[in-house]
Amino acid sequence: LTFEEANLCQTLNNNIAKAGYTKLTPVQKYSIPIIQGGRDLMACAQTGSGKTAAFLLPILAHMMRDGITASRFKELQEPECIIVAPTRELINQIYLEARKFSFGQVKYLVLDEADRMLDMGFGPEMKKLISCPGMPSKEQRQTLMFSATFPEEIQRLAGEFLKSNYLFVA
Ligand code: AMP
Repeated sequence: LTFEEANLCQTLNNNIAKAGYTKLTPVQKYSIPIIQGGRDLMACAQTGSGKTAAFLLPILAHMMRDGITASRFKELQEPECIIVAPTRELINQIYLEARKFSFGQVKYLVLDEADRMLDMGFGPEMKKLISCPGMPSKEQRQTLMFSATFPEEIQRLAGEFLKSNYLFVA
């Protein structure tokens, strides 16, 4: 079984290729068709076996099949999938793996009271957010920054986060 043959969706196949996955791991080969078949599953799988993608890919394929459109907005407010794991770190890893494959949905990024966030020490967090896997590049998103003051550090952030031809309103 290859990813192309696994009957996932085209966007997902593109993102899998981008992530550099060429072959399914054994747990993926056995689990994906079972999950797609709507069956319940108990799998014996260690960390490093590719278990995360084994459950994420068929779930994401199902969710992405019709495209996430405005008409599905209500559904999104009521989660279709709940993932429970023992540590925050593991959940974070699962989240990052999911972002690798999907959720290129962010079109607008608004940073409100950016100067206050900087004062509160959130500069590194803002930078992390900008470079997290699911965040589209600044060319592909529209970024709106609001700040009561415009010190050098904020100007630097604006230069980093906004497209170079951004408009400044005072
Ligand atoms: P996991 O067992 O889910 O923690 O995954 C272990 C690592 O293998 C993660 O870094 C995944 O991104 C990576 N991985 C999962 N599936 C594949 C695959 N089919 N090909 C290459 N790398 C993979």
